[in-house]
Amino acid sequence: MTHTLFISDLHLCEETPSTNQCFFEFCQKQVSEAEALYILGDFFNVYVGDDIQTHLSIKLEAQLKALVDSGIPIYFMHGNRDFFVGKRFFKRTGITFLPDPTLINLYGKKTLLMHGDSLCTKDLEYMKFRRFIRNPIIKGLFLALPKKTRLHLANKARIKSMAPKENVDLSIFDVSRSAVVTTLIQYNVEQLIHGHTHQPAEHDIRIQDKACKRYVLGDWHPSGTIIRADASGIRFASS
Ligand code: MN
Repeated sequence: MTHTLFISDLHLCEETPSTNQCFFEFCQKQVSEAEALYILGDFFNVYVGDDIQTHLSIKLEAQLKALVDSGIPIYFMHGNRDFFVGKRFFKRTGITFLPDPTLINLYGKKTLLMHGDSLCTKDLEYMKFRRFIRNPIIKGLFLALPKKTRLHLANKARIKSMAPKENVDLSIFDVSRSAVVTTLIQYNVEQLIHGHTHQPAEHDIRIQDKACKRYVLGDWHPSGTIIRADASGIRFASS
């Protein structure tokens, strides 16, 4: 039976050789057998421009391109770590860019795909930063900075986001129920797949008389969380 794979939050970087290896093995053993692969954001841990290539990014692009060239379509949605993945990346790899959110027909079932950060509406500080940094003018100004400066700023932001948060209700970093309900109603869907929170789960939500499902992908440390969909439904798998 043909099937489609979904992944997110791999946070690949030079410092995580075992996760990187896990991804290459996943490509060879699992993606090569699939009908399509959807990457729903935070594939790269840091990405601040298509002109900054590392030993790892070159290897990853070559692997992805080989899969696309073999006839397996790959779709890529931005996460909050890699929204600077741009036109040149897509041109080099042959991957198709997916806006967040995107509605697809998954084996006859309307399914909404998101990274998930836009659903974390209780984190007001992040939502403000998100609007600022995704503004095309700000994005353009950032990408015009020297490579070293971009990497320095990204590193600073990463350290700040990893700092222990005192007196903060940690639930603000999860998706807000009302944002999920509003989104499902707005797109008139019963099925949502997203990542970002690193809390893999299958959630049931009742909206009026409809039984809806929210599938959350997990991260890849130490091994991968994968969603596998086919005509019989959706299930979690591992790399
Ligand atoms: Mn994320």
